[in-house]
Amino acid sequence: MQAIKSKNTRPELLVRRVLHRMGYRYRVHARDLPGKPDIAFRRRKKVIFVHGCFWHSHTEPGCRNALKPKTNAGYWTDKLTKTRARDEAALRALEQAGWHALVIWECELHHENELATRLNDFLRDAEP
Ligand SMILES: [Zn+2]
Repeated sequence: MQAIKSKNTRPELLVRRVLHRMGYRYRVHARDLPGKPDIAFRRRKKVIFVHGCFWHSHTEPGCRNALKPKTNAGYWTDKLTKTRARDEAALRALEQAGWHALVIWECELHHENELATRLNDFLRDAEP
């Protein structure tokens, strides 16, 4: 298990590939936005986070990727709680600044067609 949250993870690259294929243009790793979203669509004011289920404590009951390690349990609980609090604060800050955010979990990437539909639904410009 990697000890550092890395950029350009496999799930992130998959989402970017699907977006690219659909013809969307985006920026990656928007450092000036709260939470440094993985993918940003500035004109649309929309951002996407691709979250690893373990690092970001996916709470979906069916998710097996989020299981906590049994060794060093206190350390991990503390670390993951902080990550989760940071994620929530970032989403709130983005929302307050008028951005729309979509969180995609690592375990949701198995069906590329479903993913493409979700991305399209999220990115489609809303009717006034
Ligand atoms: Zn998950």
